[in-house]
Amino acid sequence: MVRIIDVCSGKGGVGKTTITANLGLALTQLGKKVAVVDCNLTTSHLSLLFGSYSYPLTLNNFLKGEARFEDVVYTHTSGLKIVPASLELKDLVDVSFNNFGEKLKENFRDFDIVLLDSAPGLGREALIALQASDEILFVANPFITSLVDVFKCNQLINSLDFKPKVIGIVLNRVRKKAYEISVDEVTNFTELPVIGIVPEDEKVLESTNKKTLVLISHRNSPSSKAIFEIAAKIAGIEYKKPKILKRIFEIFKR
Ligand code: ADP
Ligand code: MG
Repeated sequence: MVRIIDVCSGKGGVGKTTITANLGLALTQLGKKVAVVDCNLTTSHLSLLFGSYSYPLTLNNFLKGEARFEDVVYTHTSGLKIVPASLELKDLVDVSFNNFGEKLKENFRDFDIVLLDSAPGLGREALIALQASDEILFVANPFITSLVDVFKCNQLINSLDFKPKVIGIVLNRVRKKAYEISVDEVTNFTELPVIGIVPEDEKVLESTNKKTLVLISHRNSPSSKAIFEIAAKIAGIEYKKPKILKRIFEIFKR
């Protein structure tokens, strides 16, 4: 059965969209049937990360009753399916999220994983993605503000009648500075496992402005490697390091 995973955070700007897009691609490359859905309608960015700035129809059209679901699903060259949201302000009017979770489940019933790129915080948009999900993946930065907000979101999830399973936290933009909150501290404070650490990587920023994903432009960069490891954990498969890296490790071990 398809797993709908909400990629969420309390705080904005922590890397949700970056992780959703690259994780979607990594899972696809690991052989899974995957879709990524832009659930951040007010400030949608997911399509921009794939280098596409305009689509004939978007999720907004579906939510307004103007398009069929299959008309707003696009295929990336990798095979990954993308459901973009509109970049236009006018398309925010008259959207209805009624039974959104059921609609996703129905339309993606033969998929393995659907990743929802959530709006930050605990507002209406974020709650819609949360309610449509079976599982939750938090993205946070190693800073107090980000972690306090994850804690608060997790409290909210624990108070819900239906309880999506919390996979854990992806700690993103880690610079290994002494002032950063350590992985142990994150685990103790949030009582959630850290399932992956993605380093601060300039290649991520470069890739966005070059209209591509870091996983495509710099497959062997530290951030890409970390994202592949997270994808393998989520998919429950063993991740084999690319041969070139294995060879380098062997040389250094001698
Ligand atoms: P969110 O979706 O949570 O608002 P984004 O994915 O848009 O966050 O990321 C916010 C900013 O951080 C973007 O400019 C993005 O390129 C940058 N970013 C995300 N992850 C990394 C990383 N590992 N290294 C460097 N920059 C990153
Ligand atoms: Mg975002």
